[in-house]
Amino acid sequence: MPTIRVANLRVCVTEPEARLPGRVAKKLGLKEADLARWQILRKSLDARSRHDLRFVYTVLVDLPEGSRAAERLNDKPGEVEFYVRPPFDDPEPGHAPLEHRPVVIGSGPAGLLAGYYLAVRGYRPLIIERGQPVKQRVPAIRAFEKGGDHDPENNYLFGEGGAGAFSDGKLTCRMSGPDVDWVLERFVECGGKPSLVYEQRPHLGSNRLPLIVRNFRRRIEALGGEYWFGCRLDGLDIAEGRLRGLHTSRGYVAAAQAVLGIGHSARDTYGMLLDAGIGLRQKAFQLGLRIEQPQEQINRHKYGRPEYLPLLGPADYTLTAHGQRDVYSFCMCAGGVTIPSVSEPGCIATNGMSNSRHDTPFANSGIMVTLEPHEFGGPHVLAGLELQRRFETIAFVLAGGNYSAPIQTAADFLAGRTPPKGQRLESSYQRGTTALNLNEVLPPVAAAAIRSGLPVMDRKWHGDFLANANLLGPEMRGSSPVRIERDPASRQSPACLGLYPVGEGAGFAGGIISAAVDGLLSAKQIVRQCAPCGSPMEAAEKVVG
Ligand SMILES: Cc1cc2nc3c(=O)[nH]c(=O)nc-3n(C[C@H](O)[C@H](O)[C@H](O)COP(=O)(O)OP(=O)(O)OC[C@H]3O[C@@H](n4cnc5c(N)ncnc54)[C@H](O)[C@@H]3O)c2cc1C
Repeated sequence: MPTIRVANLRVCVTEPEARLPGRVAKKLGLKEADLARWQILRKSLDARSRHDLRFVYTVLVDLPEGSRAAERLNDKPGEVEFYVRPPFDDPEPGHAPLEHRPVVIGSGPAGLLAGYYLAVRGYRPLIIERGQPVKQRVPAIRAFEKGGDHDPENNYLFGEGGAGAFSDGKLTCRMSGPDVDWVLERFVECGGKPSLVYEQRPHLGSNRLPLIVRNFRRRIEALGGEYWFGCRLDGLDIAEGRLRGLHTSRGYVAAAQAVLGIGHSARDTYGMLLDAGIGLRQKAFQLGLRIEQPQEQINRHKYGRPEYLPLLGPADYTLTAHGQRDVYSFCMCAGGVTIPSVSEPGCIATNGMSNSRHDTPFANSGIMVTLEPHEFGGPHVLAGLELQRRFETIAFVLAGGNYSAPIQTAADFLAGRTPPKGQRLESSYQRGTTALNLNEVLPPVAAAAIRSGLPVMDRKWHGDFLANANLLGPEMRGSSPVRIERDPASRQSPACLGLYPVGEGAGFAGGIISAAVDGLLSAKQIVRQCAPCGSPMEAAEKVVG
């Protein structure tokens, strides 16, 4: 039965999706009853005209045998054509004997998808995670938000699911193809809504992620994989350039293959890797501030007709101001909250998230710039991390040393004005805010670029962007300032064969899906090389201490 891809179906957002098959049939010159089966391949929003918002669909249609529609395919080249789904590459298992089961370090999206793939292929991975299961992580974070102590092993960044578990859950990514589709399908399998696989800007919401992360674990365990929580990688045992084992906070684990998915905030682990001789390099990273405006103001600006809001939900945006240094919005959370994205005590760094219902009155977004290695203030490979820590500490101290976040009106920030002492500004940030001059909590080049870029963004929005806007920060961890070297073909550390640095912390991904795909690709590499082996108890038996 031939499959036809029908593209560029432009439909008013107020039109019910149930009418889509009728539109597809019309485009093919058929009756709706003539379609054997149809499914949405992509759905995006064309928001160029705010008074006439349109969904743009690409649909796959199976035609009945002998259908005449195939004869008309040349009528609209590019819009109606035969379609063959690009296959997902499932490599044949290799022959190298695997004496110990593979270990995955870190259970963020990179580690999770690496672990999941290895489990599906029969490799029974051991996943070690410094933090606790997501069920215990939630109360730790809630307690911190209410004024409790900072837990260095269980926070917004560390613990089951990694930064991904309390992220905003936008599953957008610049890549596409079978690996991305495979990852998105796994998110659906583990509890995400089915439309994730075809929406242009799929969004899970922070409230859904813990359940999804737990479902991934249950599947991995059901396939013979195992998790050790509260287990931190503290050292590598390398012999003749090959991985032999891992020193962990729970003892020694023999391992010849390990996926290293530690995220971009494990500063202690980067230090350990450097000492162990693993190649690290400085890398440009993103930093800036977080802007908050009333969500209602964003909706009004983006939607030209009131009926769009109930149909489309609170509006999001992306904005860029080109200049000597580009300034851009980052991780915009409609109807969300600004949070303390910190993994070290005595530091403050912001980020944002939102629930699937986007139900707070606040819009928030990073306003970011890219800092290049020569601006880190020194040649040391960890100079970028030190720079992050320096400004996070300054912010922490200036704001009173209690994880309250520095805040300022956008107008005061642009004028470089110190806000009146004790000024109270509305914010979604739970632990309280302290008004101060945010120019002091950023490297001067970054603050200057943001001062230039914000007015450009505001002009694009005819004054709707900065009206009622407050800024919080610093947002120091938009991406990793370090890259862990790896051989592009084997995906292993040249200094330690068998070690596969993956994900955001390795500097090869930015965001949930790209990190997940990066983990998946390294897991495939292990499959390609090694024959599955090992019983679930094997690694446990090797633990000493
Ligand atoms: C608040 C917030 C909102 C975000 N929103 C989005 C979004 O909407 N969409 C999006 O695409 N991205 C978002 N991101 C970014 C996204 O979460 C990350 O890009 C992604 O999680 C990176 O995945 P990772 O697996 O590489 O690392 P992480 O998710 O950081 O996972 C690393 C894991 O390794 C563990 N670990 C670290 N060191 C060790 C060690 N020594 N031993 C054992 N375990 C260790 C950590 O505890 C952690 O669980 C957001 C991030 C934050 C903080």
